[in-house]
Order: sequence, then C-alpha cells, then structure tokens
Amino acid sequence: QPPTADIQALDAAHHMHPFTANAELAAKGARVITRARGVWLTDSDGNRILDGMAGLWCVNIGYGREELAEVAARQMRELPYYNTFFQTTHVPAAALAARLAELAPGDLNHVFFASGGSEANDTNIRLVRLYWALKGKPEKTVIISRRNAYHGSTVGAASLGGMAPMHAQGGLPIPGVVHIGQPDWWSEGGDMTPDEFGRARARELEEKIAELGEDRVAAFIAEPVQGAGGVIIPPESYWPEIQRICDAHDILLIADEVITGFGRTGNWFGSQTFGIRPDIMTVAKGLSSGYAPIGGSIVSDEVAEVIGQAEFVHGYTYSGHPVAAAVALENLRIMEEEGIVEHVREVAGPHLARRWAELAEHPLVGEAKSVGLMASVALTPDKASRAPFAAEKGTVGYICREISFAEGLVMRHVGDRMIIAPPLVITPDEIDTLVERAWRVFDLTLAKITA
Ligand code: PLP
Repeated sequence: QPPTADIQALDAAHHMHPFTANAELAAKGARVITRARGVWLTDSDGNRILDGMAGLWCVNIGYGREELAEVAARQMRELPYYNTFFQTTHVPAAALAARLAELAPGDLNHVFFASGGSEANDTNIRLVRLYWALKGKPEKTVIISRRNAYHGSTVGAASLGGMAPMHAQGGLPIPGVVHIGQPDWWSEGGDMTPDEFGRARARELEEKIAELGEDRVAAFIAEPVQGAGGVIIPPESYWPEIQRICDAHDILLIADEVITGFGRTGNWFGSQTFGIRPDIMTVAKGLSSGYAPIGGSIVSDEVAEVIGQAEFVHGYTYSGHPVAAAVALENLRIMEEEGIVEHVREVAGPHLARRWAELAEHPLVGEAKSVGLMASVALTPDKASRAPFAAEKGTVGYICREISFAEGLVMRHVGDRMIIAPPLVITPDEIDTLVERAWRVFDLTLAKITA
C-alpha cells in the first residue's frame, strides 16, 4: 500500500468529495480507510475506529462478509449484466422483487429497481404523477414533503428534500414540490407537549392540502424517522394523524425507508414500527447492506395495476442489476438466518436505549433519544430552555465530530445534533464502548469550547 501522504495527495489533486468543502479537505488531507470488519474500520495509519454510522446508514450486517463477496463473484461469472428493459428479465431481479414483496407490509407487492435512493425517489415523482393521470386526474401533481428532509441528491430527490443549503445551490425545488414543518419537538416545540406538537405538525399537512386544493395534491413523502435531518424521532401522535389525513384526502403516502428499512428501527421497515400504511416505499442502503448499489420503489397492488395500464417511460441501465440484486438477496438471507431484526428489537435496541439515555446526564447534552439502532443527542448550552448554541458557536457539532473521529468513534453531526446508526450486528459490549467513547467526546468538546 502506498504511504498515506501519497494517497492523500492524489485524492486532493483529483477527487471531488460529496458534501465536502474540497479546498478545506485538500489542505488537511482525507483520512484513508483501508479495511473493515464487523463494526470496526481500520485507517491507513492502523487506527481502529468504531463505525457508529454503518458507513452511511447502510452496512446493516457489518463489514467483511465473505458470503456476499462469493455471491457477487459467482453472479459476475454467470451473468454480470443484462437489462430489464424491453421484455427481458433474469433470476436475481425476479427473485429479489418476489422476496421484497414477501417482506414489505400490506399489499406492497411490486418493485421498480434503481441504483440507489435518489433514483428511486425520482422514480416516485414520475410514478405518482402518472398514477393520477391514468386515473383521470392529471391535475393531481403536487408532492408535499417536509423541511429538513433528505431524499437524495438528484434534482428531483433534492427538491423533495427540504435542505435549504441544497435548494440554494441550483435553484431548487422544481415546480410542484412544497414543504411543511418537521416534527422536531426539541428545536421547535416551544411550550407544547411533544404530543400536542406532533399533532400540530401533522395538521400542517391538512392545512397545506386545503390551501392547494385536494384535487392538486398527488402525494405526501416522509421518512418514518428523519435521518440526515438529525434523527428526529417523531412524537407518538404524529404518524397516526398523518395517516388519517392522507386517507381522508385521497393522497398517496410515500414512506422513504432508505434509512429505516431492513431492521434499523427493530422491524423490517420503519412503517411497521410507527404503524404507517404507505402506498409506496423507497428502499436502498440496507437492502444490500451497502455491498452493492441498489434501491427501488415498492408499490401497492393498486398503484402497480394502474401504472401497468401504460408504458412507464422510465428506467435506469442498472435497474435490477443482476450482481447487485444477487448480493441484496444474499444479504436478506443472512439477515433472516441470523435473526438480525430480532437482535435489534430484543437485544441491541433496548440496550442502546438504556445506555444512550444516560448521555442526557452530560452537561453538554439536552435530549438523548433512540429508536432501534438509530439515535441522536441535542447539544445545548441550556437544557431548561432547549436553546441552540449561538451562531458563532454553531460549529460545536463540527468540533464534536472531529474530536469523535480522533477518539476512535464515527459520529456524525447535523447542526448541534450528534447522531449514530451503527451496523445492526453490534453487540451489547460494543454498544457500551460506543456510549463510553461518546461521553468522553462530549467531555473533550465541552473542554474545548469553554477553553
Ligand atoms: N432517502 C433517504 C431517507 C436517505 O437517507 C438517502 C441517503 O442518505 C437517500 C434517500 C438517497 O439515497 P442514495 O444516496 O442511495 O441516492
């Protein structure tokens, strides 16, 4: 392996990183990750780092699974590529679609494949508009989403997302996408109880539908738990009210399960954890545990039947890619064989909930919440008022993230929130290590910002 500095120099000279200020990174040099096993990363200097983010919320079954490497090699030898356009199929795509139909709740029995979550959400925009057009309601085109949501980085998916900095670069959102508030009680709930606030935020959907006119609204899209927005776990009142509103106004409900799918919240899908009955689910990431790029839209019998009446003029070269599909199938087989969803629900999730809640005792931490194996803390200078750090200290999360990496723990920051979503195979002992490291990271952060 070349020396770290040489790799960093090549990277700085030629590699443009996503979601990164590249000049700043080039000046300090990217950390080079060379190997990973289980929940542990190794960098080019030999440091071991606990990956509290499962890569990007995706390596659900952990790193280093030989079975997936073998399946990929076998599929590459047998049939490395063929398309699913023009009336052809192959075993991995057909078998994976059938397996997803078994796992997905309700009558979500039909899958349109993509290479990842962004593409799948772009598919959803076109799917829901075509659906209403075929039902004789071509004016039902508007999609309602939420501020601070993340649905991907393509023009369509970033429009669905509610990230102001993303919209500012490139004139988004596209027409026909509007946003309402998110159920973030800690930051925005004021004097309301969490349940009052959850209901109030859900009712913003009803108000928006009334404002636009029910006949113009095609769908509402949301993550069961907002992930990249900061692991915002909604109050219990939120989802039942959203479901009622979508049913009452004939609006398709799209659950973006790219993060919450495949065990993250202690069920196969977050929709099951929160009692949601979506018409369409977006999946990606944990579908293959990140070992191959694959995603998709899983739609109900009714949506598939309507869409099936026309040619859906849409598709990706890699829709249902045989190697990615074979890897995903093997990943799902391992998840079932090893009882990984049960491990999250019965062992790792409850253990994390107990240990993570202890972090609320730290002087820097306000709220500390988790569901399954996704968790966040809100850093605050004043727990009573739930105040954020003043703008000039707005980089507290960033400082904390830097310290965390140096202390051997990958935690991500979103503003003043620190978030984790480790591989689902994490053991109780490793959860203890994660929480103990997080506590130390908060100590060091507090020392640094008060120095
Ligand atoms: N939807 C959600 C909820 C996500 O968290 C992400 C990625 O983080 C996406 C969609 C986009 O997926 P991808 O990066 O695979 O395009």
